Amino acid sequence: MAPPVVGMGGGYVIGVPMKVSVLAWRLLRNRLPTKDNLAARNIISQESQFCVTGCGDVETAQHLFLSCPVLAPLWGLVRSWIGMSSADPVSLQDHFLQFTNYTSRQRQLHFTKC
Ligand SMILES: [Zn+2]
Repeated sequence: MAPPVVGMGGGYVIGVPMKVSVLAWRLLRNRLPTKDNLAARNIISQESQFCVTGCGDVETAQHLFLSCPVLAPLWGLVRSWIGMSSADPVSLQDHFLQFTNYTSRQRQLHFTKC
C-alpha cells in the first residue's frame, strides 16, 4: 500500500522529518513565501517579484523548482547523486511524486535487505 502523500489527499509522508512534510505541503498548496506570493500580499512591490537568481522571470514555486534556467538543472544533479534516472517533471505534483516514489522504493529495498 502506498503511503499517504502530502497534497494528494491531505495526508502526510511516512518516514520523513516533519519539516520536510510541511515544506511539501506548503509547496503543493502554493503557500511558500515566493516573491509572487509576497507581491500578491503587498509584502513586496510588484517590481521586486523577479527571481533571486537574476534570470529575469517572476519567482514562483513552479519557476524555482522546475523552470528556472539557473536552479532547475540542480534537480538533475540531485537525481544523479542519489542514483535515480528519470525525465524532468512538468508539474510540482509530478516532481514531488517522482522523489516520493523513488525514496519509498529505496526504503523498501533497504528494509528487504536487512
Ligand atoms: Zn530564475
